[in-house]
Amino acid sequence: MKLKIAIQKSGRLHDDSIKLLKECGIDINNGVNKLKTEASNFPLEVFFLRDDDIPQYIEDGVADIGIVGENVVLEKKKQVNIVEKLGFGKCRLSMAVPKAMEYASVQDLQHTRIATSYPVIVSEFLQRHNITAEIHEISGSVEIAPGIGLADAICDLVSSGSTLFMNGLKEVETVLKSEAVLAACHQLQPEQQQLLDKLQFRIQAVKRAKNTKYILLNAPNEKLNEIIGLLPGMKSPTVLPLAQQGWSSVHSVLNENDFWDIIESLKAAGAQGILVVPIEKMVI
Ligand code: ATP
Ligand code: MG
Repeated sequence: MKLKIAIQKSGRLHDDSIKLLKECGIDINNGVNKLKTEASNFPLEVFFLRDDDIPQYIEDGVADIGIVGENVVLEKKKQVNIVEKLGFGKCRLSMAVPKAMEYASVQDLQHTRIATSYPVIVSEFLQRHNITAEIHEISGSVEIAPGIGLADAICDLVSSGSTLFMNGLKEVETVLKSEAVLAACHQLQPEQQQLLDKLQFRIQAVKRAKNTKYILLNAPNEKLNEIIGLLPGMKSPTVLPLAQQGWSSVHSVLNENDFWDIIESLKAAGAQGILVVPIEKMVI
């Protein structure tokens, strides 16, 4: 019994999808132009597909699970479960208009022509805001549509915004924030569900580790309580005596988000020799 996973054949999500599986300890040999392969050390069969097709394959049960942009899942309206956000492939689906156009609010989209590859998501957005507009569905190079007179506005995926800028456009509304997700079939066999649970357990350990750092520092004993109070730790920090009298070594884990604030407070409280090291996996 194998778990069948669909990932993007080539494109923005391909490398990170393979990398994630690798970080989960799953080796797949990914020959060029291969459409299908198997993992050597996990009961996993991998299909390489166009990202647009992945939700359908999962709905049909041809693939049990898949890695795909949330934007694609929402656009395709297939019956699949999003079981895990994966933290890569981050982007937003945004409305953009020519730089010279005066734009004050979403009302300015009233009676415009909007070019997009995401007609379903865009029409839901327009409905939510009571806007009537004409949607022109095009499959690529959406950003040139206003320049060639095909549309007044566009709705497209953006990460840095430089493509929009280069095409004389400005971003005016965020319609959706997206990232790569793990999507699964509604009806999984118990064996497949067990394999998915096992995979998700590993993915969560990898994700957690990415957001967390291991910290080691030296503290004068009279400042220990204050310093320990600043550290969250998994349970509580580990404190070990140093060879040098009156000093201790303190070990703990930190969330990347509060990282710099905590480091500054630690230094101010008298911590020295602060080392911060990456964590490879974190199982709780
Ligand atoms: P395919 O050949 O598989 O159909 P594609 O051209 O439709 O590929 P890509 O451009 O490779 O798709 O993008 C795949 C996914 O990467 C998008 O659906 C989106 O979730 C994510 N993504 C992240 N950043 C961006 C970006 N700046 N532009 C487009 N997609 C992005
Ligand atoms: Mg595609």
